[in-house]
Amino acid sequence: MAHEISDACVGCGSCKPECPVEAISEGNPYVIDPDKCTDCGACIAVCPVDAISQK
Ligand code: SF4
Ligand code: SF4
Repeated sequence: MAHEISDACVGCGSCKPECPVEAISEGNPYVIDPDKCTDCGACIAVCPVDAISQK
């Protein structure tokens, strides 16, 4: 299990600094490294377009 970012991502960058384990990388869309993500959920709350979900 890990969180993932969908194509709905608009690249605002808000989620990246919220991740305590630096699992989020810049991109189009932004990408979450499933091996680093601890499923804390912190990134979900800050995404303005609800592009982040748990798979
Ligand atoms: S759920 Fe937590 S650990 Fe996973 S990418 Fe989001 S902020 Fe980082
Ligand atoms: S907060 Fe949402 S829209 Fe902004 S970069 Fe992250 S996933 Fe993309």
